[in-house]
Amino acid sequence: MFVDTHCHLNMMVKKEFDTLLKPEHFMLVHDIIEQAKRAGVTQIINVGTSVPESMNSVALAQRFDNVYATVGLHPCDCTPTWRKDFEEIVRLVKNKEENKIKAIGEVGLDFYHKPFDAQRQVDAFKAQIELALEYKLPLVIHVRDAGEELLRVLEEYVKEIKGATIHCFSQKQDFADIVVGWGFYIGIDGPITYPKNDELRAIVKAVPLEHIILETDAPFLPPQQYRGKQNSPVYLPLFAQTIADLKGVSLEELARQTTVNATKLFDL
Ligand SMILES: [Zn+2]
Repeated sequence: MFVDTHCHLNMMVKKEFDTLLKPEHFMLVHDIIEQAKRAGVTQIINVGTSVPESMNSVALAQRFDNVYATVGLHPCDCTPTWRKDFEEIVRLVKNKEENKIKAIGEVGLDFYHKPFDAQRQVDAFKAQIELALEYKLPLVIHVRDAGEELLRVLEEYVKEIKGATIHCFSQKQDFADIVVGWGFYIGIDGPITYPKNDELRAIVKAVPLEHIILETDAPFLPPQQYRGKQNSPVYLPLFAQTIADLKGVSLEELARQTTVNATKLFDL
């Protein structure tokens, strides 16, 4: 049994981002979830990126037993009016039980996609960290080309943070050492199978298995066999095997330990 700790089912079944799911989309999600179950992926955390996509995450979590939601504003979705969006996120979190919200995310810093407003991203990240602290929720963190700045923001809060995962880990070993030292998890997905990713494989080898969780980030980042196609939670066991091989454990043991980790982090 695997947990896909970072998936965007909502983005798999519709073409346009930041629109609300329609009834026909729920049918498509139902089919994906059933396929995933047959592949051994029995729980899915659906991650929000904006107000409409966070609302979709909640709607999916409410509809499907084995789906849980996270809500938050992705750094690339922090517009000049992000404070208004943030109020909507707060509104969702106020009913965190009913809305099956298990974390705040994905939040963080992204200085890769240009143009960006660094200060605005930092402000939105801090507001969302404080929201997570207030509601005792963990964080799903996105970081791209902003590793040092991200660590600087997190350092201020690290003693109070309930838990966190660095999603789609693509940082260096020293970054991994710091966040693992803080008790955070690193989320590993399809790119672990990419031929050029020796550095990531070395990091996964070095990080204790107790700090690794699995995620697909579907519809993005398919494993090597499916590059160029839409990713799916169904493919999680494919790259899980790569991680099991790196750690020198069986696929069953990898599934067991990463499920323990995800259950602990997200209180499943
Ligand atoms: Zn994502």
